[in-house]
Amino acid sequence: MFKIGIDLGGTKIEAIILDDSLKEILRKRINTEQEKGYEHILDNIASLYKECSKAINEAPHTFGIGTPGSVSAKTGMLKNSNTVCLNGKPFLHDLEKRIGRKVAIENDANCFAMAEALNGAGRGQPMVFGVIMGTGCGGGIVYNGQVIQGLQSIAGEWGHTTIDYQRGPKCYCGKHGCVETFISGGGVEKRYEELTGDKKSLHEIILLYRSGNENAGIIMHNFFEHFGVALSNVLAVIDPDIVVLGGGVSNIEELYTLGIEQVRKYHFNDELKTQIIKNQTGDSAGVIGAALIGI
Ligand SMILES: [Zn+2]
Repeated sequence: MFKIGIDLGGTKIEAIILDDSLKEILRKRINTEQEKGYEHILDNIASLYKECSKAINEAPHTFGIGTPGSVSAKTGMLKNSNTVCLNGKPFLHDLEKRIGRKVAIENDANCFAMAEALNGAGRGQPMVFGVIMGTGCGGGIVYNGQVIQGLQSIAGEWGHTTIDYQRGPKCYCGKHGCVETFISGGGVEKRYEELTGDKKSLHEIILLYRSGNENAGIIMHNFFEHFGVALSNVLAVIDPDIVVLGGGVSNIEELYTLGIEQVRKYHFNDELKTQIIKNQTGDSAGVIGAALIGI
């Protein structure tokens, strides 16, 4: 059966059609046009979906949507989406009404984990922990080809487990010392600014670190260590076969040497068997994952 997936982002809406062998047969992008409001976005998604369905002569297919933020599996209500006008709206219900069929929806981290588990670096592995380290820090667990959602749809959300609840930096979620405040791109930039009073992008901080700058060295050492602590906590709970890293921060090459060394240091076992590797689906993970979670 064909699989149609739509990745809904703050600026772009992307659609893909995969065939039985997960080969891409069509891909299309349009602008989200948030400023035109909720109904307009619904119309855009509906017409993009219909276009895809026409492209395969309305042959039987599944359909799934991926979006940042958290999605209640029960109500389809969105929270923390970067397409802000969708927050608190019965988005899933309204879309299903518009296109006359059921739609599956998952957050971007779960879509990433699915894309990597079935069509990327985690292919053939029973349990995949997919990590997105970008502006924020998310995660998703796929077991035997299925996303583990959990009772409250928060399974895999390691970014908001806290590793220093007393002295850690304040997180947007209200707690202190969440993993996200230490190892997301935004978190590293903030920690650097606190230490030096200087605003630098993650990329600039990395370059400074590689050139031997002392402050950047402190920040990056802390980054690797927090990564090790946070990931070893996850390993001790779910013990996945593989951890696949995604998002802009996953491009830091030292994560795969110094970062893994720190995971080994805190790991609750005498050897670290878990593979911790970079993703293969790159920028396409969201839309491929959306197609793979479809119903
Ligand atoms: Zn938090």
